Amino acid sequence: MQPELISARGLCHAYNSVEVLSDLTFSMLRGDYIGLVGPNGSGKSTLVKLILGLEAPSQGSITVFGQAHKDLKAWDKIGYLPQKINFFNPHFPSTVREIVELGLISRRHSRLARAERRAAVDQALELLGIGDLAKRLIGDLSGGQQQRVFIARALVSRPELLILDEPATALDPETRDNFFSLLHDLNHRDSVSVILVTHDIGSIGEFASKLMFLDKRIIFFGSFDEFCLSDTMTKVFGPSSQHIICHKHD
Ligand code: ADP
Repeated sequence: MQPELISARGLCHAYNSVEVLSDLTFSMLRGDYIGLVGPNGSGKSTLVKLILGLEAPSQGSITVFGQAHKDLKAWDKIGYLPQKINFFNPHFPSTVREIVELGLISRRHSRLARAERRAAVDQALELLGIGDLAKRLIGDLSGGQQQRVFIARALVSRPELLILDEPATALDPETRDNFFSLLHDLNHRDSVSVILVTHDIGSIGEFASKLMFLDKRIIFFGSFDEFCLSDTMTKVFGPSSQHIICHKHD
């Protein structure tokens, strides 16, 4: 049986006493590739923050890699790509190589020799097909190229869990396809577990193994086979869209 990677029990979160996540109980298993979907404001980013330990539950509990967030060791094993990468100053004089190397600042990687860090960065750049951009300034790149740099930064530490918030929005169609096949390989070949927050509910069934549909509560969580048979999901999407989303029929 796959071991539990995330365990949430009765998890609630409130901002200024307004509850935005209510009574979430679920387990993510190692090797799962979860598509996290739901309307705007349904609590997806808040759940990601709770998983990362950036917010604390107002009630209930969550553990990641068997640890509560007081113990930040779990951080070393998580690669995170936030939705908004525009927070940095575009004139910030950092090269692509320097930005990607920032993904190696955790305790676990602090003892890496210079050559090992360099090799890890080179490998991440190659994976994303941006080896030729290593010396370029981040501010000089297009949105799609910058996105690839930040994906490389999330991957460079070889995380066991990757959390990606709307990662494909700025990518051109070819890079987007390459990106999803890279995620597929990481998940299947390297057993990296993945949580992908997305608005693209029509496509996620092609890639992910499970779907979580959130709307303050968990409306649905399960495999796409289960999604296909879920009466609740028929009520939400209607039978036609449900069977497009599940990708189980020709
Ligand atoms: P999603 O990612 O699904 O769009 P969010 O988790 O960002 O949803 O937001 C869930 C709810 O919490 C929304 O009503 C949002 O306005 C509110 N919210 C999010 N962040 C904060 C915050 N820092 N302070 C107060 N309310 C917040």
